[in-house]
Amino acid sequence: MTSHMFGRGPGSLPTAVRGEGCYLYDSEGRAYLDGSGGAAVSCLGHSDADVRAAIHAQLDTIAFAHTGFFTSEPAEALANLLITHAPAGIDKVYLLSGGSEAVEAAIKLARQYHLETGQPQRHKLIARRQSYHGNTLGALAAGGNAWRRQKYAPLLVDTHHIMPCFEYRERQDAESRWEFGQRAANALEEEILRQGPDTIMAFIAEPVVGATAGAVPAVEGYFKRIRQICDKYGVLLILDEVMCGMGRTGHLFASEADGISPDIVTIAKGLGAGYAPIGAMLASAPIYKAIEQGSGSFQHGHTYHGHPLAAAAGHAVVNAIVSRGLCDRVKAKGEVLQAALQQAFGQHAHVGDLRGRGLLRGVELVEDRATKRPFDPARKLHLKVKSAAMAEGLICYPSGGTANGQAGDHILLAPPYIITDRQIDELASKLSRAIDTALSQ
Ligand code: PLP
Repeated sequence: MTSHMFGRGPGSLPTAVRGEGCYLYDSEGRAYLDGSGGAAVSCLGHSDADVRAAIHAQLDTIAFAHTGFFTSEPAEALANLLITHAPAGIDKVYLLSGGSEAVEAAIKLARQYHLETGQPQRHKLIARRQSYHGNTLGALAAGGNAWRRQKYAPLLVDTHHIMPCFEYRERQDAESRWEFGQRAANALEEEILRQGPDTIMAFIAEPVVGATAGAVPAVEGYFKRIRQICDKYGVLLILDEVMCGMGRTGHLFASEADGISPDIVTIAKGLGAGYAPIGAMLASAPIYKAIEQGSGSFQHGHTYHGHPLAAAAGHAVVNAIVSRGLCDRVKAKGEVLQAALQQAFGQHAHVGDLRGRGLLRGVELVEDRATKRPFDPARKLHLKVKSAAMAEGLICYPSGGTANGQAGDHILLAPPYIITDRQIDELASKLSRAIDTALSQ
């Protein structure tokens, strides 16, 4: 039968009918180990009893009340819980329905903050190459991945992209890791000076770059220097933790590992853990106060933002992460996963780098390990790995353009926090077979 679904790509996909723990099952009864939580979403696995119960209970109480008229108990509870654990200075939570919405809200809030504080000339956004901030036009403009931007370039507002803190690709041999991090951070200062400091609105970055570079944490000292530069020039620091936050990298908020606090932070993915579409934009007290004492309200909003069902799911998820000590589990299992990947690929002729933090890990494929030369993008190696992995019964998240936005292939791994050591072994051996199959094609 012809499908009327406007899918992501050509060809038919298996139908997912059931999820249990770390596994998804299709309508043919095939099992798939979810080694990437889809796209770093399903952090509690697919059958968490507490989250399901919270959604059911909320549905039986109240499903929807428009935020223009009412607040709701689950939204208030979620905001309180997030702020209890948020980075220093972060005080308010704006609930949305996903990551791109959260990034759009962050960009608009940064702009409105400068208007409220008498700096209307500040409108420029600086971001990093090889970053991903979402697919809506504002978030896409912020993102620094060449092929994702290419088709829509005429529609994208000007964003200024600096080098990423991507050690494997950008550190020079003569540099220490620290020196490299300082050079990469100082690129922000150079760009601010080039553009004119009083025109810059904000700098946006992922603490651990996810989809487009494949689990790239910054080196030590980088974000501390970034924070100093932002403070020096009155530039707001927006951290996009849509993928790396909510425990994924071993901290509820990823920036904890870097020892800094942002002015605005975005979260999504692991916040709803796949049980509900939810994201959030969190802002510091001074930003909120500037709006409150200025025009009174943030000129933004969506019909479904702050949806009670999604908020109930988010609250149950964050509560589970905190009360079950899952951040510590992520740190421990992240080490187990890294060791398993090291064993499977440490000597592999076409694996150039194994990296990441917590349970967000990346495997970068290269044609030549010594020179780090990527494969010809025409080979579409990452797509072949994806199909071969599915045939093995493994969900992983491969992407292309890793090296420079055009060439390069990596596989992103982001399994549920409940993954066991035995399942980590299963993941590594299925991925190993999938990579070898793809390389032989
Ligand atoms: N920001 C980051 C860092 C992401 O990884 C993503 C999605 O992959 C987004 C934003 C966009 O989120 P969504 O797909 O929920 O709109």
